[in-house]
Amino acid sequence: MPLTQTREIAAATRLDNVRYAIRDLASVADEVVRQGHKVLPLNIGDPLVFDFQTPAHMIEAVYKAMRDGNNGYAPSSGIKDAFDAIRGDAERKGITTIQDVFVTSGVSETVDICLAALLNPGENLLTPSPDYPLYSAVQAKLGIEANTYELNEDDGWQPDLLDLNRKISSRTRGIVLINPNNPTGAVCSRRMLESIAELARRHNLVIFADEIYDKLILDDDPHVSIAAIAPDVPVITFGGLSKNYLAPGWRIGWGIASGEAAAIRPYVEGINRLLRARLCANHPEQYAIKAALEGPQDHLPEVRKKLRSRRDLTVNWCNSTPRVSCVSPRGAFYAFPRLDIPEGDEVFVKELILQKHVMVVHGSGFGQRAGTKHFRIVFLPDEHSLTNAYQRIADLLHERYH
Ligand code: PLP
Repeated sequence: MPLTQTREIAAATRLDNVRYAIRDLASVADEVVRQGHKVLPLNIGDPLVFDFQTPAHMIEAVYKAMRDGNNGYAPSSGIKDAFDAIRGDAERKGITTIQDVFVTSGVSETVDICLAALLNPGENLLTPSPDYPLYSAVQAKLGIEANTYELNEDDGWQPDLLDLNRKISSRTRGIVLINPNNPTGAVCSRRMLESIAELARRHNLVIFADEIYDKLILDDDPHVSIAAIAPDVPVITFGGLSKNYLAPGWRIGWGIASGEAAAIRPYVEGINRLLRARLCANHPEQYAIKAALEGPQDHLPEVRKKLRSRRDLTVNWCNSTPRVSCVSPRGAFYAFPRLDIPEGDEVFVKELILQKHVMVVHGSGFGQRAGTKHFRIVFLPDEHSLTNAYQRIADLLHERYH
């Protein structure tokens, strides 16, 4: 048989801008592992890779749900027990104008559905820079052009209100607010939330409040949900079991739509149309939602205690190491130190994997102000592993830029 010439099947061009730097570095690490080395992973925000465990009563609830036969499809927006529990938790946080609650396969799916249900070609959404890369990936998939607003490092990574204001046009439909933030660990002040809510009110924008880390606040001030202080503004608040409840592999997230009922109704109906089209989120795992939100919360003080100590170690190291400086994170488990180096942060991060077997993510993978260089640390590992990793990073900095 004559061999025919291979004709490549090209991927859609709209994927050209889809990047997920956090996982894209994996191929560099694979090479190091193939050479027989162990890589210290300070790059992936999965607590289960380290000394954290899913609370036993949640596992029991899922196991029981399976044994009781809840293994078929669930209702598209979730099981009743789950959204009653989500609603209760939101009300305890002061969200009073709840119009709808829906359960999804992780917050990742909430983001996908909520953006797809809102944005028409030619419209845009304000997303933070630096940001969690899922938002730009979903926008690229939808053919939506990026419209980013700056987080201001000199102001503890709070949103730059002037920039935010400047970027709003007649085609802007919403604002993404990640609070606590990934990758910076910043937590928004109440005054900042009020100002952002006022902008949304004035320009008729939807706020996407990604609060997936809201129970992992490391300092004393409590977390404030923007939906609680702006009951009239259309807000979709995102939450889930991946981080606060240490079950990322279960893929359970949710959205809480709040605001004036008449204003938000058509949009919420659009979201529900997409929810129905994809059938449902994982069914038995939804039984862990009530167990998580209404059951024992003992793991939380324990998790926060570990994170506080690891955050302090990280910030002390950054601020005592030449060429590194860092705004102290106040929530979640990420730090975003600044690098003062003569080459790009991606080059540095790749060399760090290849030479010192430590994996962090380059700041350029999250978007950052032009001319600045950063890297993101996940400070989930124990103190011993972190100290070891920081020593290796310091060694590379010294060797390369002495
Ligand atoms: N939003 C933020 C800010 C995140 O950091 C992550 C995961 O790291 C997600 C959403 C996705 O979460 P999920 O596991 O619920 O899909």
